[in-house]
Amino acid sequence: MSSLPVLVLNSGSSSIKFSAYEAANGSRKKLFEGAVDGIGTENGKFWIKDADGNKKLDQTRDLPSRAVAFKLIADELHSGDVPAPAAIGHRAVCGGPTIKENQLITPALIDEIESYQALAPLHTPIGVYIMREALKLFPGIPNFAVLDTYFHRTIPEVASRMPIPDEWVAMGVRRYGYHGISYESIIMQLEPNVPEKLIVAHLGNGASISAIRNGQCLDTSMALTPSSGIISGTRTGDIDPGILIFMLKKIAETKPNALDAADALETIVSKKSGLLGVSGTSNDMRDLRTAINAGNAGARLAVDKFNWTIARWIGSYVAELGGLDMLVFTGGIGENDIDARAEICSGLGALGIKVDAKRNNVRGEATISADDSPVTVRVIPPAEDLIIVNHVVRLLSK
Ligand code: ADP
Repeated sequence: MSSLPVLVLNSGSSSIKFSAYEAANGSRKKLFEGAVDGIGTENGKFWIKDADGNKKLDQTRDLPSRAVAFKLIADELHSGDVPAPAAIGHRAVCGGPTIKENQLITPALIDEIESYQALAPLHTPIGVYIMREALKLFPGIPNFAVLDTYFHRTIPEVASRMPIPDEWVAMGVRRYGYHGISYESIIMQLEPNVPEKLIVAHLGNGASISAIRNGQCLDTSMALTPSSGIISGTRTGDIDPGILIFMLKKIAETKPNALDAADALETIVSKKSGLLGVSGTSNDMRDLRTAINAGNAGARLAVDKFNWTIARWIGSYVAELGGLDMLVFTGGIGENDIDARAEICSGLGALGIKVDAKRNNVRGEATISADDSPVTVRVIPPAEDLIIVNHVVRLLSK
């Protein structure tokens, strides 16, 4: 294959990240990267860095809508300052029950992904919008959907099946798992020495954790939607389903329309709970650390609950894997919050997890376990864009 520029588009709930790589045989060279962040605010950021990481552009903009945000990117991509892409890779958070493989994007595929937007309500609406816009922006250039759910296709039925009747299963209710592109990127970075028994904790604004055997996913904490599993910035994580029924009945007293009641419930479950809900202060770990230092008890409880949930999950995955060789922290909190890593691991000595305080005193890539720790503990930043490029190159060569 001759060298070709691949554009990556990765949208979050309020941001669109983009990057381009020159892909040739085994080599990948970053050309540029950028983001439009803070969509829906007057103080959004639009920045671009060149291949050497120097800021080419750094603006504060009024970003009332995703359309305004994407137009900034589209204008830049058409400015002639950057090479036109030969192919485009999109992060697709959830393909639902029918789309299991990474594949070429067609209008019909976008409609299908959109039909399951209730499964990833913070991500899919903006994701499908960008897919449609990208098809118009570069006519004739192939666009590919790379799924966060793809990595989890190996989960055995005992973990993917929900304890519910078949009729709900037939409607697509099962464990899909999320953050799969991040997990794939950790495996890629560990190759060729991927440990047999591995746990990866992706701790960002959204947080999940996976048990991985020989590089294949065995189990993951997020299930039908990213609201499940461990507590996140604004999402509940796993809670008693009876809470939802109890609250739905309360909400129905003022919102008898079922869809209105469901929307009200969804707002609480995915936008107002988690670290934000427990602390009553913020969903952002940096704010919570500042609040803890100022003696805020709610912030302390929220972070304690976050650590406690993750430690319990690690324990259950050690049981599922039948032991543990390596624990990896990734995501914004996993990479940067030294205290969270220490606090999570502090009670896990019985599982062979022993963190060295000095080695843990870092941000970014490091091995943080003690020399005599039976389990290796590492911090590895994700490389999601590279995984998207790799899938695009693989699909193009088919
Ligand atoms: P997203 O899921 O939006 O991609 P990120 O992976 O960027 O999220 O992680 C965001 C989280 O990382 C926030 O809670 C933020 O506070 C936390 N974080 C980032 N830098 C630090 C830091 N230096 N110390 C503690 N937490 C941090």
